[in-house]
Amino acid sequence: MSQPAITREEMALIIDLHIDGERQGPGSNTDTIRALDCCDLGDRTGLTVADMGCGTGASTRVLAKKLDAQIIAIDFARPFLLKLQSRVREQALQDRVFPVCADMAKPSLPLQSLDLIWAEGAIYNIGFSAGIRAWKPLLKPRGLIAISEIGWLTNNPPQSLRKYWEDAYPEITTVSGSLEKLKAAGYRVLEHFTLSSAAWLDHYYQPMMARSEQYLGRHAASPTAQAIMAQERKEMALYEKYHDHFSYQFYVAESTHPTR
Ligand code: SAH
Repeated sequence: MSQPAITREEMALIIDLHIDGERQGPGSNTDTIRALDCCDLGDRTGLTVADMGCGTGASTRVLAKKLDAQIIAIDFARPFLLKLQSRVREQALQDRVFPVCADMAKPSLPLQSLDLIWAEGAIYNIGFSAGIRAWKPLLKPRGLIAISEIGWLTNNPPQSLRKYWEDAYPEITTVSGSLEKLKAAGYRVLEHFTLSSAAWLDHYYQPMMARSEQYLGRHAASPTAQAIMAQERKEMALYEKYHDHFSYQFYVAESTHPTR
């Protein structure tokens, strides 16, 4: 997870830490497929889909394999998109995946052009409320969104945990708070579920920790790299201790009324 308002050096170091990961945020193919099953698009053909903040494309490749669709893979980090392209080619999916280097807050896609907008571990970068509102006009009537968003699972998270996440992401709220935001922005929620702990640990933090020694070796002279790694360790420890209180929640929802 990155922090807002970061420097160029920090961005380069964050990309270097994450580029060899299977995923750049908590998530797993099992959770991706579970959310995709909620969309019930299996028998539709010729779909147009955007994967916002796709990173190196773990979810993009699942979508490309499971759907009859063109997938527009959007990220503002070019190195991630280059890695995505090589992974997509390895699996011969290049005819279905179109990487686009853009800001997902304003991706310049045609209005009402998308059947489905996907975003895993990414929307917090532009804010959940702003994101779901900015993306709605891009959806076809009754188009779908499938978005994972961090949130509180309980009403009483410990103070230190609350402070950590409110500093990192001031918009963080409860699952019912996010459901309210979806409704207010003109979506009908079809399903929602909590990301598995394997998605956090087996597919994100543990592989990152396995790369950490080499990473710190590559950037031995960089206090910034050490600070980034310390931050990730702290975040992982918070998840291990307090996973009953917070997680990513996957929301699958349908656009209800037309956008004016
Ligand atoms: N969806 C991927 C990556 C999650 S990490 C996965 O689940 O593995 C968040 C991603 O969002 C990173 O790849 C980051 O480069 C991208 N990102 C952050 N802010 C962005 C923005 N404003 N526009 C486009 N991409 C952005």
